[in-house]
Amino acid sequence: MGPPMLDMIGNAAKPLVLVVEDEAALATMLRYNLEKQGFRVEEASDGQEALTRIAETRPDLVLLDWMLPAMSGIEVCRQIRRGPATRDLPVIMVTARTEDQDAVRGLNTGADDFVTKPFSIDSLLARMRALLRRSNPVPDRGQITFHDITMDLAAHRVQRNGRSVHLGPTEYRLLAFFMQNAGRVFTREELLDTVWGPDIHVELRTVDVHIRRLRKAINQPGEADLIRTVRASGYALDLEPA
Ligand code: CA
Repeated sequence: MGPPMLDMIGNAAKPLVLVVEDEAALATMLRYNLEKQGFRVEEASDGQEALTRIAETRPDLVLLDWMLPAMSGIEVCRQIRRGPATRDLPVIMVTARTEDQDAVRGLNTGADDFVTKPFSIDSLLARMRALLRRSNPVPDRGQITFHDITMDLAAHRVQRNGRSVHLGPTEYRLLAFFMQNAGRVFTREELLDTVWGPDIHVELRTVDVHIRRLRKAINQPGEADLIRTVRASGYALDLEPA
């Protein structure tokens, strides 16, 4: 009957990043860190391979090194923008410090953002997530399902196991965000930033309060707790193996 449900849903919800980088050590470091943060990773070591991988794997985001053998990152970016299927594909250009002026040109030729080597993985992740949010705004119609929970986004209706679940507005937005990013761990800061908004200043423990309410609303005795607390890190919507 195919793969287990969690794998199917987990993989479908994990964004795919194409890392285009000719320095093998850097590509390996990026793959390790991005996979740890819940992304799927494909690699390409030159521009032509990048374009082929994009056509084959349809990534959600491209991390594009500026200095590549044969075809430069900027030419790859141009070709991405020319393709009708890839025109809106988010691209982050990776440049060396000495290429700063060029990086600005990179933005003009269609990169959505850029990072300068050496960069911290945290700042890269923040840019990636911001870009993915912009390219995948929360849909306001249709249905999303995770495990035995269904959300009707147009009617604002939530069901678990066929019974109605009543949620406050914040718990509703939290759950919608989790369901659209199932399996990924978010810090309290990230949840505040995305669910409450970047300009809202509330204490981090506010998140814990709403997570507690959400848990209480969706979990009935005997049902799996679908909210996973990740110690020292944050929360995820996940089905832990019993
Ligand atoms: Ca390079």
